[in-house]
Amino acid sequence: MPDNIHIKLNTASVEARVDAIQAAFEERGMKPAEFIGEFRELAEEKWLPENGARVCAKAWTDPAFKARLMANGKDAVAELGLSMPAHHRHLVVLENTASIHNVIVCTLCSCTAFSIIGLPPDWYKDLEYRARVVRQSRTVLKEMGLELPASTEIRVWDTTADTRYMVLPMRPSGTEGWSEEKLAGLISKDMMIGVARVAGT
Ligand code: FE
Repeated sequence: MPDNIHIKLNTASVEARVDAIQAAFEERGMKPAEFIGEFRELAEEKWLPENGARVCAKAWTDPAFKARLMANGKDAVAELGLSMPAHHRHLVVLENTASIHNVIVCTLCSCTAFSIIGLPPDWYKDLEYRARVVRQSRTVLKEMGLELPASTEIRVWDTTADTRYMVLPMRPSGTEGWSEEKLAGLISKDMMIGVARVAGT
């Protein structure tokens, strides 16, 4: 590459580089602006952790649904009108209990069941989390504010391109008779990743 072009690339602002990439797509008949607009709408309005929270609350209150969810997560969430991209072939639901705590990671990059639990938080994409949660899960969880009893077994699940995970948190006692909507309000994205637990569990 000639020197002058090299210098130009290095000094271009992020905006100028984005414009150049966008122009290159447009020259080839693609429509990046439309794609970005659609993606933003999906990310901000459709791929929300409230989806997974609704699934978990339903599983807490409806044993038959829970059985279907554990057997085939993707089919079960479809019953609630939730969809997953075609390449997410499996949704595996991991149930937390008093003796077993599940936590998910993507050691390669940042994969999650994003249409169900929302897009991954920044820390989920950090090399630090990806490398350490596998080998030092108890310490990493403690650093993130979740101190588990020594008697609780921690299981770490590594996401792949076609298999996505969701942790089903434990339902706290004292919530008998609550509506699904109220129960769903207890559940966060971090709990469905497995780095937090519902208060009182
Ligand atoms: Fe990934």
